[in-house]
Amino acid sequence: MVILGVESTAHTASVGIVTERAEVLAIASDMHRPAQGGIHPREAANHHVEVLPGLVRSALETAHVRPSEIEAVAFAQGPGLGPCLRAGATVARTLALAWNRPLVPVNHCVAHVEIARVLSGLDDPMLLYASGGNTQVIAHASGRYRVLGETLDIGIGNFLDKLWIALGGTFPGGPALEREARLGSQLLPLPYSVHGMDVAFSGMFTAAKALHDQGAPRPDIAYSVEVTAYSMLTEITERALAHRKRDAVVLGGGVACNERLRQMVRTMVEERGGTSFAPPAALCVDNGAMIAWTGLLAFRQGLVSSVEGSAVQPRQRTDLVPAPWRSAVAATART
Ligand code: AMP
Ligand code: MG
Repeated sequence: MVILGVESTAHTASVGIVTERAEVLAIASDMHRPAQGGIHPREAANHHVEVLPGLVRSALETAHVRPSEIEAVAFAQGPGLGPCLRAGATVARTLALAWNRPLVPVNHCVAHVEIARVLSGLDDPMLLYASGGNTQVIAHASGRYRVLGETLDIGIGNFLDKLWIALGGTFPGGPALEREARLGSQLLPLPYSVHGMDVAFSGMFTAAKALHDQGAPRPDIAYSVEVTAYSMLTEITERALAHRKRDAVVLGGGVACNERLRQMVRTMVEERGGTSFAPPAALCVDNGAMIAWTGLLAFRQGLVSSVEGSAVQPRQRTDLVPAPWRSAVAATART
């Protein structure tokens, strides 16, 4: 079985093709990079409308797959930016109609978990999902994925991007901040904002910008922001592991490409006697392959949608969608 997936929740338009053995046959992606400032939903959507047809073609070519071999078309239904989601959904509906194939809606956050789960071989890991717009700790319980902790204000990636721009850099800030942080050594005081299982970043944004305005060296600010923010994420992940009696963590989202975050989570999990896994960068960031793979899991359960019923859901919560492909027995045994 071969499934095609379309991702378009934020700045990345991507088409992926996977098999039922979770072989990734192709990922064709194109990221909208605003000339200045952050992401504008309408502009990003226009970008996606322009590039997606070419991405479909190039994914099919790379995969050496003909449209007649695609058994279903999956797309990210939410959460995400409305105009961006609609661009991807429109392409997916068009393909489903043109190829006469079922349409499978997929939750973007669940897709990050599922691709990491199949690649890691871990049966029931917890996900630390750290991306541009999302920051969540997610675990499976009683038939669906639950958000155990999350950001109370902005996503960690948006925080890093916004901060890097405020420090004179350009989008995307996460990778640039990571390089800058390697040159820093002094840990400057920043607000450490953990509230139970949740985190917040806006106080750290204000404080880091104030340090910059006062002339603190940028590498030290970058280093301190990374250490503080990733400690916060590692702490809530550890608390979730302890509460839910789990021992495995997978990472997902663009910020999970960060070596310091990976290392901090690995150290924490290994000290608890557990295992952590981060997918390769191409499958950590938003990508069509994770949508295709989760679409395949859903399709096998008959979770298809009519075109009329396939409206995008910009605020679709992780715990709103059922994940019946996870064994009910295994789920209850662990809750
Ligand atoms: P996503 O929303 O999952 O596509 O991820 C995009 C976000 O990941 C952006 O906010 C980037 O700044 C961030 N990002 C990408 N690479 C890194 C990195 N190496 N370290 C920290 N953040 C990163
Ligand atoms: Mg994402």
